[in-house]
Amino acid sequence: KTEQALLEVNNIEVIYNHVILVLKGVSLSVPKGGITALLGGNGAGKTTTLKAISNLLHSERGEVTKGTIHYRGERVQDMSPADLVKKGVIQVMEGRHCFEHLTVEENLLTGAYTRTDGRGAVAADLEMVYTYFPRLRERRKSQAGYTSGGEQQMVAIGRALMSRPETILLDEPSMGLAPQLVEQIFEIVKAVNEREGLTFLLAEQNTNVALRYAHYGYILESGRVVMDGPAQALRENPDVKEFYLGMS
Ligand code: ATP
Repeated sequence: KTEQALLEVNNIEVIYNHVILVLKGVSLSVPKGGITALLGGNGAGKTTTLKAISNLLHSERGEVTKGTIHYRGERVQDMSPADLVKKGVIQVMEGRHCFEHLTVEENLLTGAYTRTDGRGAVAADLEMVYTYFPRLRERRKSQAGYTSGGEQQMVAIGRALMSRPETILLDEPSMGLAPQLVEQIFEIVKAVNEREGLTFLLAEQNTNVALRYAHYGYILESGRVVMDGPAQALRENPDVKEFYLGMS
C-alpha cells in the first residue's frame, strides 16, 4: 500500500439478495493522480466493486457484508452517493445513461448541480469539457438521445467532469464502441488525468487497451483479485498474455 492512496478498499465481501456471494474479499488501493484499472471477464465483479465504492448497491439488493472502504482516510461505506460526490468521488455508470430528451449541453450542466461556486466557474468548466471533447461542442445543441454511442460516452464523462471531481470511477468506457472510438476515449481520459490531475479507477473488459493507458491494474476472477501489478508488468506477464491479451 502506498501512503498517498486516496481510496482504500480492504477485503470487501458483497452479497446480493442476502444469498449470492459475489465479491469474496476484494482489496485494492488507488493512488492519487493515477489511472488504476480493474480488469476481468464478464461477471468477474468489476461493476459490483465500483458500485460498492460509490454506494450504489442498495437499489440492486446488494450489500457490503464485510471489509472496509476508505476515501482520504475516512470511512465512506455509509455515505450516500450524493455525499460522495461532495467528497469528490463520482461514478460514470456502464451504458452511459444520458438524459435523452435534453441537449448535450443541458446534460453536461446537470453534472454541475451540486456546485455552489457560481455560474462563472461552471461556464469555465463547460469550456474545459469542450476543449477535451471538441465533438461535444459541435453537438451541443443536439438532443442527446440522437447522438451516437461514442458521443453519449463522452457526454457521460463530460457530465462527471462538471462536478469538479477528484476521482472518477469509470465503468466499462469501451462498451459497444468501435476500436477507434475506444482509443479516442482513452486518450481523453489520459489527457484529463495528466492535465487536471484527476484520479481514475476504471473497470474494463478490454484488457489490452486498459493496460496501455492505466498505470496499475487489478485482475478479478469470480469475485477475487487474482493478480495485480504495474500495467507494464501485467502486459508482459505470460499468464496475462495468454488469458487476457489473446496471445502467448
Ligand atoms: P460485466 O462486465 O458484465 O459488468 P462485471 O465484472 O462488472 O461484469 P458484475 O456486474 O459485478 O461483473 O457481476 C458479478 C456477478 O454478480 C455476476 O455473476 C452477476 O450475475 C452477479 N450480479 C450482478 N448484479 C446482481 C444482482 N443485482 N443480483 C444478483 N446477482 C447479481
